[in-house]
Amino acid sequence: MTSEQALERAAAAGIHRLQIPTPFAVGRVNCYLIDDDPLTLVDTGPNSGKALDELQSQLAGFGHSIDDLELVVLTHQHVDHVGLAEIIVEHSGAEVAALDLLAPWVEHWSEAMDADDAFAERVMAEHGIPEDVRHALIGVSQSYRGWGAAATVTRPLAPGSQLRLRDRTLRVHHRPGHSPSDTIFHDEGHGIVLGADHLIKHISSNPLISRPLAAAGAPHGGGGGGGGGETADRPHALEIYIASLRATRAMENVDLVLAGHGEPVTDHVALIDERFRLHKRRAEKIRRLIAQAPITAYEIAQALWGNVAVTQAYLTLSEVLGHVDLLVTAGRVVEQRDGGLVRFAAAG
Ligand SMILES: [Zn+2]
Repeated sequence: MTSEQALERAAAAGIHRLQIPTPFAVGRVNCYLIDDDPLTLVDTGPNSGKALDELQSQLAGFGHSIDDLELVVLTHQHVDHVGLAEIIVEHSGAEVAALDLLAPWVEHWSEAMDADDAFAERVMAEHGIPEDVRHALIGVSQSYRGWGAAATVTRPLAPGSQLRLRDRTLRVHHRPGHSPSDTIFHDEGHGIVLGADHLIKHISSNPLISRPLAAAGAPHGGGGGGGGGETADRPHALEIYIASLRATRAMENVDLVLAGHGEPVTDHVALIDERFRLHKRRAEKIRRLIAQAPITAYEIAQALWGNVAVTQAYLTLSEVLGHVDLLVTAGRVVEQRDGGLVRFAAAG
């Protein structure tokens, strides 16, 4: 099935892709109009006039306007997916549905972003990222805030529950990894998954190390069925993501996955297997670096990616730590704490 055939197939099921511009390197974000009752929009695009104009004109192409929307469904916490939610609600009075764990996060968006920045700062310091780089990155994060906004979730969704529309039922699955709130929606009758950033065809989703959604001290429902863990209150994002990918790989009645960026995924099992191979190779490469001498995650990132480890320090740090976690869990690498700094060394 080609991308065009997949999109036609989705359109025949009443699901239409809208490609909304973002200011980010990832390019456009895919939002999906579900022509059903209620009239539903899955994800919104970022909070910008340009995104709003494009949303309006692309909805018009399907004979609708923002004012007609009755339900907005949010797939996860990132600003390119949720930024316009409250503005859409102001125009339309639409309900907003999202994973129950995500609801307080978007409702208290500004405080959540402050806490996320503080969390990121601490993780970066622990893993050897110098202060000037940390401050530059927090500055970038703060400049992104204008693309998001708080929103009120009127229909919190429990994992495993169903969202019923007139012509379909969407099964709600929590698939944390890319972010702690990643949620996918399975239209079982049509064999279509709205997968957002859980599985993207042209890029391997970054399992970003994010502050857990549940309040500090409260157990976090990892979802996806085990595998992930936490140490020193830093979630093992890649392990959690791999467990989520396993759960998605095992899903039946999935002909296509409509992604949050790029083209539809028409063979999710093959793509997930490819991701598993990639993570194995990368972990092995990192293990060889660690075997030479104890090393910080930041030094590993620089050895692998040079200056990108500075300009995209948090992304590359997340990538390194995700793979180091796999090695630590496998008993091949140990963590050494030296004051506030963490180094990794070969086990035994
Ligand atoms: Zn995204």
